[in-house]
Amino acid sequence: MQIVSSVAAMQRLAKKWQRAGIKIGFVPTMGYLHAGHLSLVREARQRVGKNGKVVVSIYVNPTQFAPTEDLSKYPRDLKRDLKLCRAEGADVVFTPSDAEMYLGRKNPQSAIRNPQSFSTYVVEEKLSRPMEGASRPTHFRGVTTVVAKLFNIVLPDVSVFGQKDFQQAGVIQHMVADLNFPVKIIVAPTLREKDGLAMSSRNKYLDAEQRAQAVILFHALQAAKAAVQKKSVSAARLKTDLQKFITAAPLAKLDYVEFFDPETLAPVAQVKRGTQMALAVFFGKTRLIDNAKL
Ligand code: AMP
Repeated sequence: MQIVSSVAAMQRLAKKWQRAGIKIGFVPTMGYLHAGHLSLVREARQRVGKNGKVVVSIYVNPTQFAPTEDLSKYPRDLKRDLKLCRAEGADVVFTPSDAEMYLGRKNPQSAIRNPQSFSTYVVEEKLSRPMEGASRPTHFRGVTTVVAKLFNIVLPDVSVFGQKDFQQAGVIQHMVADLNFPVKIIVAPTLREKDGLAMSSRNKYLDAEQRAQAVILFHALQAAKAAVQKKSVSAARLKTDLQKFITAAPLAKLDYVEFFDPETLAPVAQVKRGTQMALAVFFGKTRLIDNAKL
């Protein structure tokens, strides 16, 4: 397994593979890998086959964090991540620095502190507006920008994203279609802990009590699923019921719960089987998200 930190070297390698007709599968991550990430790596391998190349990027992208968010505290353990990627059979781990990603090698100032030096962003203007976009207004701009950059660097034929970040996957699919990126996007299922909590690097922030109560997100999805199996229910009514349901976890503070069309992300007035539900819940400063098709 190769570890590549320079943009130029990664692009050279990808171009070489491309010329040789070798398929490239790509899994972008922010590291602190768990079994959910590794399932995406396996999916990428399946898609490109044993003769293809699988690239995992590990990069905590500053432009998708607001100044008030957890950028500097975001968990990191590169040594462990590399071991996991090697064991999973990745061919390359791409680990660029901020200077590499946002400024080029000659000017190692922070792009974030010096916005003059980086001034081109990719913005998806429809699917990125509600839910995560409403709670985190600059988040998706950072995501689409870094993913567009990574696609131009890694030149993937296939890239795998997690259903865990349902809205993100939709925004990326829209970007790829709108801007004609020659890459196929695969959305892979959410891996969960034994009790149902969706695996996330941010689960590490939770103390024992918060961790025990964090399963309320999964239980809320299950409760909504049960409520709409036989009949449709008004979204307003179900929201009120779920708000109450979530207070059963006294440390939980609901950010949003939404019901929407899985294709358009447009909110629905009546919730029925097949409606998508997403929610975000704070435990202290830690913000957890989850979603499911009901
Ligand atoms: P992150 O490192 O949080 O940016 O996530 C990198 C990729 O892994 C994204 O496509 C996520 O949707 C995906 N991912 C995160 N958690 C899970 C999970 N529990 N199961 C499957 N995929 C996940």
